[in-house]
Amino acid sequence: MKKKLISIVIPVYNEAENVLPLYGALRDVWSQLSDYDYELIFVNDGSNDTSGKAVQSLVLADKGVKYIEFSRNFGKEMATTAGIEASTGDAVIMLDADLQHPPQLIPELIVRWERGAEVVVGLRTRNHGEGLTKRGGSWLFYHIMAAISETDMLAGETDFRLIDRTVATAFNNLSEQKRMTRSLINWLGFKKEYVTFEAPARLHGETKYSTNKLTRLALYSFISNSLLPLRMAGYLGMTVTFFSGIVGITVFFERYVFNDALHWHVSGSAQLAIIDVFLIGIVLMALGIVALYIENIHTETSGRPLYVVRKRENF
Ligand code: UDP
Ligand code: MG
Repeated sequence: MKKKLISIVIPVYNEAENVLPLYGALRDVWSQLSDYDYELIFVNDGSNDTSGKAVQSLVLADKGVKYIEFSRNFGKEMATTAGIEASTGDAVIMLDADLQHPPQLIPELIVRWERGAEVVVGLRTRNHGEGLTKRGGSWLFYHIMAAISETDMLAGETDFRLIDRTVATAFNNLSEQKRMTRSLINWLGFKKEYVTFEAPARLHGETKYSTNKLTRLALYSFISNSLLPLRMAGYLGMTVTFFSGIVGITVFFERYVFNDALHWHVSGSAQLAIIDVFLIGIVLMALGIVALYIENIHTETSGRPLYVVRKRENF
């Protein structure tokens, strides 16, 4: 019987010192996985160190190693996308090159997959060697995401995950530019399971994600997974107009219809302020309406498929 093929996609950006240790760790893991063939797809995301050379030396020694090189740095999400597109395995695993995603977990991912899971997500319970800013930021990201996103994401979900071939095929049909691999995979659906792990500190080098870059990624992720921020102005406008309207009407009757019967002595400038707030509310509502049109453009241009099919039979 033909062995099943597992593709492993590894985005590499200035990881020269990590390539060989990672390869060694993967070989170790494979010594227990003799029932499967592997395909290691290293995607060099425009490194300016010797990462490319390191991978190419592996290509010469091992026909299971494949290499893709970008013309410049496009970012991890694009590198992962390219790797998944190039993969041919029955399952595809995404793995960071810095050994923060322990390869020892791969057999467990495969076991879950063999038992029927189509997406097996690595859930990070701890991130060693991360500063307070990054941990705080990551906490904030997952919680905002959970609150506003239309697709679910648990705290600690990483890109370290296995996807079945059907999921990879569906993923390849997604065409948006601003992308976060894990939220797109979540959007696709399919049967999901979780495996927890503690991330060790990266083996060599520095993180490639500055706070700045991460914030930008988080913001894009929010706006591409949620339309709530866009609609917010409209909701705010409705609330402001509603309450200032009530206050305005009350003050109008008290002051001009009943001739200040309650002795509120509402000053002229206070009345002006009420009218002002009311008008601001109307402006915000108008923005909200514009937002609805933008929302429409946003969904149309993201070019996502209307639905995702797992299987077709008997056509
Ligand atoms: N990476 C990439 N392109 C980039 C930045 C990072 O391909 O522009 C790769 C990097 O080589 C690593 C993975 O993405 O394999 C995760 O990056 P990093 O460890 O710096 O992120 P962190 O773990 O700190 O979030
Ligand atoms: Mg890392």
